[in-house]
Amino acid sequence: MAVVSKIKIKNASITKDNLLKLLKEIVKEKTLIAPVQNELDDVNFLPVGDAKEICFEYENTATSPKEFFYPQYECMFSFSGAANDNIEIKDNNEEIVLFGVRSCDVKGIELLDKFYERSFEDDYYLSKRRNSVVISVACSELNEQCFCASTGTGPILEEGFDIQLLSNGDGYAVQVGSEKGLELFEKYQNFFGPEVKVDTKKQKPQFDLQKVYNNLKEEKVDEDFWEDMGQRCQSCGLCLFLCPTCSCYSVTDKDTPLGESRRSRQWDACYFRGFTRMAGGNDPVRNSAEMMKRKYQHKLCQQIDEFEMSGCVGCGRCSLACVGNVNWLENIIKIERAN
Ligand code: SF4
Ligand code: SF4
Repeated sequence: MAVVSKIKIKNASITKDNLLKLLKEIVKEKTLIAPVQNELDDVNFLPVGDAKEICFEYENTATSPKEFFYPQYECMFSFSGAANDNIEIKDNNEEIVLFGVRSCDVKGIELLDKFYERSFEDDYYLSKRRNSVVISVACSELNEQCFCASTGTGPILEEGFDIQLLSNGDGYAVQVGSEKGLELFEKYQNFFGPEVKVDTKKQKPQFDLQKVYNNLKEEKVDEDFWEDMGQRCQSCGLCLFLCPTCSCYSVTDKDTPLGESRRSRQWDACYFRGFTRMAGGNDPVRNSAEMMKRKYQHKLCQQIDEFEMSGCVGCGRCSLACVGNVNWLENIIKIERAN
């Protein structure tokens, strides 16, 4: 069963006042997760108890919303003693509404949906997704590090969203794009008004994704380029943890002091040397330059082949966070020009 069942888009509108009232109603019945600004002025997704806590003016959140479906640490099941009937698996039936997600992150979630649905159904992820509705708010402009217009993932989506809001100054045009979105829309329909027009002019792409794909596929990029990047990378993993589409994890079993044992999974990353190393010490990725090359090939070639969408959704978080000054957008433009 697909996580997002698309419908013919239904158009409506909502004023800023009514949006706040709608969110106040939602919080009474469901877990509402929305952008909240902290004392350092960072904006991040957090569960809110009152819609007044929500930050409406922000470029994008510092971290991606993936952690609400694919947590950094997750207990898969716990057990005590030796018998299988002591195994306890936690149900994931909390209903959540995720508000304020940017288009790039909606596409990031779409890629994770495809990843977790592909060869087997990952219930830990999919049960949370099936119980969630995403209300996205499209950016009016791209910021310096963003490039969703080049990866086909924004700033305005044509499909793949539950409910998409497009600012028109006084309020928002509303587009309902999925069955889950329609259910929420109909439940709270008193808050919505008739369809309004918004200016949806297209942003100019910064690079040609097809050319980047071809150049990576045909290995046209000079090895020195990867060497330089490999030398700058400190293997901190920050870029991968912040990336809305990265999904590598490791599984561990541990005993707790109370006699219970837990199997858990936690985020891992292809830039950590232990991740690709196999039993016996062999590592198919020999050095940092190869790690870098594999990441670009994976996101900009293999994931396009496998999922028919770019594995990079152009959020720009990796470039903003990198301690080694590895700039993803600048590097993609260099790859596009390689020859
Ligand atoms: S953030 Fe920069 S230094 Fe850290 S792993 Fe990513 S590329 Fe390497
Ligand atoms: S690779 Fe960088 S720019 Fe692309 S989606 Fe991941 S964090 Fe965002």
